Amino acid sequence: MSDVVVPDGARLVLATHNRKKLVELVAILRSQPGLDALPDGAVVTAGDLGAPEPVEDGVTFEENALIKARALARTTGLPAVADDSGLAVDVLGGAPGIFSARWAGRHGDDQANLDLLLGQLSAIQVPEHRRAGFVCAAALVTPDGVEEVRRGEMRGVLVEAARGTNGFGYDPILVPDGQAPASDGTPGTLTSAEITPEEKNAISHRGQAFRALAPAIAKALA
Ligand code: IMP
Repeated sequence: MSDVVVPDGARLVLATHNRKKLVELVAILRSQPGLDALPDGAVVTAGDLGAPEPVEDGVTFEENALIKARALARTTGLPAVADDSGLAVDVLGGAPGIFSARWAGRHGDDQANLDLLLGQLSAIQVPEHRRAGFVCAAALVTPDGVEEVRRGEMRGVLVEAARGTNGFGYDPILVPDGQAPASDGTPGTLTSAEITPEEKNAISHRGQAFRALAPAIAKALA
């Protein structure tokens, strides 16, 4: 029994209220077999439906992703997909981790979060000691009780000054490993906010987690 009005044609609901994350997610999902032909209107978001946001009181990315997906499957009656993500800094023992979105105190203040983190790391200048990873747990929960969760991680080095305008959050300070080499063959040194959205999706924590989850989503929608 759903508590919100679900539009005709809606087949899958995504938990995000973050538009930039939504754009990334839809692009990733549409690139997957079985999900490439999803018609417009088949994917709706918790924000579009006015679904209430549950309290994220899990202590891992996986728990929080499942909390969000379970709540949304219950209130909409649709298969629900949620992710929980953040930046885990090695020298900070994995912080800000699940607190990434509100590291400086106010939820979603990307600039303040990034400034605070750079300040905390300012005494550490050796690149190998500034290693970190974006982590994403992606969860699918269906109204008939299927629960699947997958994890992805994009590791790299945190630079000392933000660069680039693509993406969101901490993208301007992470130089991901495994990005395409520069034209002269040297390893790429662009931040996650300087590479294109397509390049980011190909290597990102979110891309990895959602591509791994895609077969379960396609099965739930078959
Ligand atoms: P969530 O919306 O609860 O998953 O929180 C995610 C937070 O982690 C965001 O507000 C960002 O600060 C950070 N984050 C997660 N994924 C990314 C990414 O791809 N780029 C930059 N920051 C990210």
